[in-house]
Amino acid sequence: MKKQFAVIGLGRFGGSICKSLVDEGSEVLAIDQDEDKVNEFSSLVTQAAIADSTDEKALKGLGIGNFDHVIVAIGDDIQSSILTTLILVEMNVKHVTVKAQNDYHEKVLNRIGADEIIHPERDIGVRIAHNVVSNSVLDYLEISDEYSIVELAAGPTIDGETIVNLDLRARYGCNILAVKRDEDIHVSPRPDKKIEEGDILIVIGADDDITRLERRWI
Ligand code: ADP
Repeated sequence: MKKQFAVIGLGRFGGSICKSLVDEGSEVLAIDQDEDKVNEFSSLVTQAAIADSTDEKALKGLGIGNFDHVIVAIGDDIQSSILTTLILVEMNVKHVTVKAQNDYHEKVLNRIGADEIIHPERDIGVRIAHNVVSNSVLDYLEISDEYSIVELAAGPTIDGETIVNLDLRARYGCNILAVKRDEDIHVSPRPDKKIEEGDILIVIGADDDITRLERRWI
């Protein structure tokens, strides 16, 4: 059976979530209190409804308790976001994801039992900052406060070296998860694989170790 999602708040973030879910073939109920927004999405999603999500009766009327996953993408109105989340948690919705505006907002959402809290603006900011600071880092994914996965472009200093010779694990505590060359991607590359300049190495490690690695090797 198709997974059923509801997205509350059809601003830039909620709107793009709706589009991605529809592209993946999911069923999506899109909710906003603004009629124009709802009209904009009505032909894209499975169902679109005008409702104030802080109105418990309105949410019940839409059968929101039966959805597998509800995403609260209300932007600036933190109070509405919190109240909506509280109602969804009390209705025992299986999985509630909420977009947080700031740390205070996140703390409250945690307390009231949101299953997942996301900070799209902050995360994108950190990513862009990292890419701007480093020449060799192409993309960056923070997996905890200390560890990240990065895409590093292989420079001339390691051209022709095998993975075993580079020995990133012993020297830097980092592991190569995959090597991308043009359109090909080699996941868990063999130790005898030769790296060529321009290859993209997908590396996991502690942030400090990755920084050392970037400086010396790539
Ligand atoms: P973004 O930063 O993602 O663009 P916005 O703040 O522009 O977010 O959009 C949030 C959307 O959430 C708006 O379309 C707004 O009408 C909607 N919204 C805000 N409060 C409620 C509410 N209580 N019920 C339903 N929709 C709401």
